[in-house]
Amino acid sequence: LRALLKDPSLLATQAYVAGEWIDADDGSTFEVTNPARGDVICTVPNLGRAETARAIAAAEKAQKEWAARTGKERAAVMRKWFELMMANQDDLGAILTAEMGKPLAEAKGEIAYGASFIEWFGEEAKRIYGETIPGHQRDKRITVIKQPIGVVGSITPWNFPNAMITRKCGPAIAVGCGFVARPAAETPLSALALAVLGERAGLPKGLFSVITSKRASDIGKEFCENHAVRKLTFTGSTEVGRILLRQAADQVMKCSMELGGNAPFIVFDDADLDAAVEGAMMSKFRNNGQTCVCANRIYVQAGVYDAFAEKLAAAVRKLNVGDGLEAGVTTGPLINMDAVEKVEEHITDALGKGAQIVTGGKRHDLGGTFFQPTVVANVTDEMLVTNEETFGPLAPLFKFETEEEVVEKANATIFGLASYFYARDIGRITRVQEALEYGIVGVNTGIISTEVAPFGGVKQSGLGREGSRHGMEDYLEMKYICLSI
Ligand code: ADP
Repeated sequence: LRALLKDPSLLATQAYVAGEWIDADDGSTFEVTNPARGDVICTVPNLGRAETARAIAAAEKAQKEWAARTGKERAAVMRKWFELMMANQDDLGAILTAEMGKPLAEAKGEIAYGASFIEWFGEEAKRIYGETIPGHQRDKRITVIKQPIGVVGSITPWNFPNAMITRKCGPAIAVGCGFVARPAAETPLSALALAVLGERAGLPKGLFSVITSKRASDIGKEFCENHAVRKLTFTGSTEVGRILLRQAADQVMKCSMELGGNAPFIVFDDADLDAAVEGAMMSKFRNNGQTCVCANRIYVQAGVYDAFAEKLAAAVRKLNVGDGLEAGVTTGPLINMDAVEKVEEHITDALGKGAQIVTGGKRHDLGGTFFQPTVVANVTDEMLVTNEETFGPLAPLFKFETEEEVVEKANATIFGLASYFYARDIGRITRVQEALEYGIVGVNTGIISTEVAPFGGVKQSGLGREGSRHGMEDYLEMKYICLSI
């Protein structure tokens, strides 16, 4: 990998704690592997609670001085950080592909997306407005100011090794917080590269740390039990989100949670079918189906069901599975064997209950964790895939008759992150977008992520929003000041 990089120093293999590049106190390390090739890229330090506590203490110290700067001063550093990310997009993309598996073009796209949060929130640092409220008595003056919450602990998954972190540290650092990131153990290198560039951009020493560690629950406990941490931000499964919320309760810690989804993707019979197929391909097969906003249940109205299935299968057959670092590859490997087994389990269960394979259905000839992009037809409510997120390249097709029926089915889940539908009738569009119980609705589009809009879920898909001016609020406290004159 190092040989592929224009700037090999971006491949950092030590942890970044309190502004220093360090090894673990006990010297322990763990391996980072390339899921496409199965080989070891490098080892990184396996940190524990003690190093995490040092990172938190340093962030607490650095945060005060950082918060005292003007928004414009903080924005200037973040602008530099953003520009360095974009200037090194090729290298950051190659590191991301090597550790995570997504095709290089997608990885570079993620770097631009990730960098956009640093840019956008940096700009927003100048606009942390308070409020004045007419006094309730003649001698009273009321103002409300917004202040940074303090030190933030962050735990993120492997599926977007760069953007999941910048979406959190962008607003946190912009408003004046300190930030301790614990990236997934599968993908620490993208986070470390981000730290290399943050240091070059001039982030104050200790403000931003990266804890590489396999001991996820220890780091989670340190975040929840250390009194200097004022906020926990997490992206991952609903299961782990619940554990962290329970742990955070002891300190009554503020939490942002981006959890699982079970996205419906509805195609009505008045839809532009080609556009719907294109949207479904993006929504379902981007990142090999490993995003929390991936279409998980594709509902197609009876009149267009066969035509849609045929067109979708034709598009799926054109996907080119392989090592993401090779040219022309559209679909990489899955992250690990557990992921492969989950896709297989969903397929086997569906077939056992009467579904049929339209295309794919098996492990790929390339071996390892490669899997054939798959379409399954005649899927019904009692199948596993209806109720659980597959997180892999499996598109299950359900047939429906009426708008009322499909809205009810789409909402029949504990999750409420993203949803999508394709239709033309303006009355239908208005009714359905209002009826879907989701934090995000894509209408005639399969791609909804952008730094300028509030991303987040309702129900058990999470708490809080990331992106947009609302994403700033999650890192701010309001203070009401009552002045008697
Ligand atoms: P995913 O399936 O995307 O890996 P998880 O919720 O299992 O979703 O993991 C998301 C992140 O949470 C990962 O970085 C993982 O290491 C971390 N994690 C898992 N269990 C815990 C825990 N008990 N406490 C803190 N972090 C955890």
